[in-house]
Amino acid sequence: MKAKILGSAAGGGFPQWNCGCTNCVEVRRGNARTRARTQDSVAVSGDDGHTWLLVNASPDVLRHVEANAELQPRGARASPIAGVVLTNGDLDHVLGLFSLRESQRLVVYATDRVWRGFMENAMARTFARFDGQITHRRIVIGEKCEIAEAGVAIVPFAAPGKPPVHLPGSPHPEDNIGLRVTHAGRTVTLATALKDVAAARSSLEGSDVIFLDGTFFTSDELVAQKLGTARAEDMAHQPVKTSVAALEGVTFGRKILTHINNSNPILREGSEERAWAEKMGWEIAFDGMEIDA
Ligand SMILES: [Zn+2]
Ligand SMILES: [Zn+2]
Repeated sequence: MKAKILGSAAGGGFPQWNCGCTNCVEVRRGNARTRARTQDSVAVSGDDGHTWLLVNASPDVLRHVEANAELQPRGARASPIAGVVLTNGDLDHVLGLFSLRESQRLVVYATDRVWRGFMENAMARTFARFDGQITHRRIVIGEKCEIAEAGVAIVPFAAPGKPPVHLPGSPHPEDNIGLRVTHAGRTVTLATALKDVAAARSSLEGSDVIFLDGTFFTSDELVAQKLGTARAEDMAHQPVKTSVAALEGVTFGRKILTHINNSNPILREGSEERAWAEKMGWEIAFDGMEIDA
């Protein structure tokens, strides 16, 4: 199975348009120890890169296609993108669907809750141009879903989080999920919005590759840098300092932190925080990173 990081930043990207934090200033100045990153998305393929399944449709999806030759059309209207799985309904994971709205059939795998949240807006009518323009395939926590078109199966697992900011209502178990992607006995696990690693431990164990929530390094990262008032946990992201420590001793083939917020010091090569994560065996994702699982 192949996996490719298309975008390794959290919502907002890196740099973020309105941000003048240390990291964003550095990356704009072209400091060699930081590199720009687009918003979260990973592509996986179980047929040696012939077709790909996108995990989340980033607002940067069009850049992802142009930056990654394997995602580009193989002929007139012949995209190798077999579908999109949504892990939640946050804008940084669904806005890209609108950029894929051409006269092209699109298959979206999502929990009922995430699907309804996405379709409950006037702009979703752009997918009513013709019958079958967009197809929802329902995925359910704990149930295996075979995606023959991309040569993989996915098993969603519970990763309780919060509903997207634009949707009212109380949290629901299907708001946010993690994914185990399997092919030929190999497992790639994606949990890029996870607020309690210990509670999800049985779903993470036994993965050949894990992509873990690297949004924040510490709980008070935004507060300490005067960038906001919310703590990491308020946004349903367990900070790396806690999650990495909680997974010490669990064996994975490769362990990768992604969905990294622009405020996170692990974005700076040589920082103390990055050195600690690396010492604990974690790699820091970057756009274009290729993984053979
Ligand atoms: Zn996100
Ligand atoms: Zn910033």
